Amino acid sequence: MKLIVDTDKCQGSGECAKLCPMDAIVITAGKAVINLDKCDLDGICIPACPSQAIHFLEE
Ligand code: SF4
Repeated sequence: MKLIVDTDKCQGSGECAKLCPMDAIVITAGKAVINLDKCDLDGICIPACPSQAIHFLEE
C-alpha cells in the first residue's frame, strides 16, 4: 500500500502538508509530493485535501 497524488486534481493548496505529522509532503511546482520514505500511511492527508487528490493505492 502507498499513497499517490492525482496531479490532475491537485491544486497545490498545501492543506495536506500542514496536517501531515511526519512532514512527508512538500508542494513542488504547485503539486503535492509525498515522500514515501517518511509517510507512515496514517491517511490523515486524504480528507484534508479539498480537491480529493490523495488516494491509497494497493501495490
Ligand atoms: S498518510 Fe499521513 S504520514 Fe503519510 S503523507 Fe499523509 S498525512 Fe503524511
